[in-house]
Amino acid sequence: MPEAVIAIGSNVGNRLSYLRKAVDQLHSIGKVLSVAPLYETTPYGFKEQPDFLNSVILMQTTLFPHDLLQRLKDIETAVGRKKREKWGPREIDLDIIFYDNLSLHSADLTIPHPDFRNRRFVLKPLNDIAPQWKSPLDGETVSEMLDKCIDETIIEMLESDWYPDGIKI
Ligand code: AMP
Repeated sequence: MPEAVIAIGSNVGNRLSYLRKAVDQLHSIGKVLSVAPLYETTPYGFKEQPDFLNSVILMQTTLFPHDLLQRLKDIETAVGRKKREKWGPREIDLDIIFYDNLSLHSADLTIPHPDFRNRRFVLKPLNDIAPQWKSPLDGETVSEMLDKCIDETIIEMLESDWYPDGIKI
């Protein structure tokens, strides 16, 4: 079954509750294999917004990439994401980072996620659960990418088992 890496984040309201609800919903679209530790990070990009909670989920799913994206958007809405400006605060954000060894570029979906290498809040938790995952673009591992990452966002690990039952392999 295909494996997907999903990055999750929240910086509005009860951030932890939004993240937990999102992971609950991910169980309905596949099998959650690993839940990375929970990190708190200063905003990346548009700085004038509250700090984020971030983590990364490794899951198996039979959904094809565009169907997976649509289901993730549905989960964002179900969990309580409100429409705001593009780079602004969000109750919940779910991004596809990797999907097996796939490299895909279309109008509404790019895999690997176009900016993941530059984001410490993605690479750091991903390195905790899948350090040897290789980018399909150049074969570099997550661990190597994290070593090279120049993102100066401050990132602090808060909790390793923040999701009930944590790792479900
Ligand atoms: P946002 O939720 O503000 O991060 O923006 C998500 C938008 O980026 C979606 O409407 C997608 O169409 C687009 N997008 C492109 N590539 C990806 C990806 N790998 N994962 C999630 N969204 C993506």
